[in-house]
Amino acid sequence: MKRQTGLLFTAIVAVSVIVVLIATGPEKPDKGLFPGDLDENQLLARDLFRQLIEIDTTHSTGDTSVAANAMADRLLSAGFAAEDVRVLGEIPNRGNLVARLHGDGSREPILLLAHLDVVEAEKTDWSVDPFEFLERDGYFYGRGTADDKAQAAIWIANLIRMKKDGYAPNRDIIVALTADEEGGDNNGVAWLLGNHRDLIEAEYVLNEGGRGAIIDGKKVFNAVQVSEKIYQSFRIDVRNRGGHSSLPVPENAIYTLAQVLLNIAAYEFPVNLSEDTKIFFEKMAPTQTTAIASDMLAVSRSPTDPDAAARLAKNPALNAMLRTTCVATGLSGGHAENALPQLASAVINCRILPGESSEMVQAALAELIANEKIQLTSIWDGVASNPSPLLPEIFESVENISARIWPGVIVTPIMIPGATDGLYLRNAGIPTYGVTGMFFDINDTRAHGMDERILVQSFFEGQEFLYQLVSELSSE
Ligand SMILES: [Zn+2]
Repeated sequence: MKRQTGLLFTAIVAVSVIVVLIATGPEKPDKGLFPGDLDENQLLARDLFRQLIEIDTTHSTGDTSVAANAMADRLLSAGFAAEDVRVLGEIPNRGNLVARLHGDGSREPILLLAHLDVVEAEKTDWSVDPFEFLERDGYFYGRGTADDKAQAAIWIANLIRMKKDGYAPNRDIIVALTADEEGGDNNGVAWLLGNHRDLIEAEYVLNEGGRGAIIDGKKVFNAVQVSEKIYQSFRIDVRNRGGHSSLPVPENAIYTLAQVLLNIAAYEFPVNLSEDTKIFFEKMAPTQTTAIASDMLAVSRSPTDPDAAARLAKNPALNAMLRTTCVATGLSGGHAENALPQLASAVINCRILPGESSEMVQAALAELIANEKIQLTSIWDGVASNPSPLLPEIFESVENISARIWPGVIVTPIMIPGATDGLYLRNAGIPTYGVTGMFFDINDTRAHGMDERILVQSFFEGQEFLYQLVSELSSE
């Protein structure tokens, strides 16, 4: 399945921008679970993390097979049978790892998913080497530290820990580390679903896409991603006969396009809250100032209070949760300085709420354009995915473990405006939950950007949280 390189934001970015509410100031991490002296499981996780960060898995020069094989070797050394550790892919440098710890088969398997590929990183754009694992001032630095190699390292370290401890789950635990989540033509999840579905068949999936939020130095919520917006792009082409620029005529492709773009800029799609977003606002309200809290409660009730929605929508992150959005992201036009333009074009990128459709959005844009001579075409067809059900066993476990590790932290389902590979799995009928237990300051989002990093404490707490979560889900 094709995905457009570089255009898909990963969820991990998206979640962190969702609540840019009242938080300001630097983070002041609490002491938390991670004490300083690492045990052997933590040392292993950090070592795997280092190894993954230092293997280039970018689209341009990287190779996910190298990373997949490195992790496969670790599993084989830990005693996994060769038939339970597979590296396979559509093309040689886009390998995926699929590994299995056998359970007693009383329940369907769980799939633990992370992607191996990372967004491009130029050394010259960073203050540190993006492909050198660096621990400094309480952070691990490197491309992929936040998205998504921490989770990849943790899945492998925890699987080895289970094996070593002789843990006997009631279901198979499958780990898949995959290629081309960030873009490219060889998406590992889509390929595995299409070609080796038996290897990853599961009752449900744990994936990236959810995370913990640190606001004002305090851990506030641990979000479980259950749905995501649809990514869809259109191009608008305005054509004109053109002519000599010394003889202007009223009908000018650039002016016409400009007018159309102003119409789109002024338009707001209707507020439409999914069930997940209603619960999110209800859960978040107590953490907010009185005014924002009452607006959050007002929009979470039916019918939604339009004035409250309008006030919340002033925050771009909340606006993205309240409605479908479309925005101009590209512009071109004209062919010569001294000629009337024959063509003016714009790219419009839309993020469509689950439950709405690309056709609905295209129809709304066509109405705003209101000119049959102007072409509106899809340049990237959105793939919709239905929200995953709020499975009690997952939410109860996440609640219980979060309460033990981070007393007072709120657990909430979340719809994210970005995209993950969860959409392929949800569309294949396998519910998918973005859950990591790794906390990030909401004002310090660096995934896809320069000097990507994760708090050392967040990494090890995430490791412990995910170990307990997978254990609970495979022993009940
Ligand atoms: Zn990611």
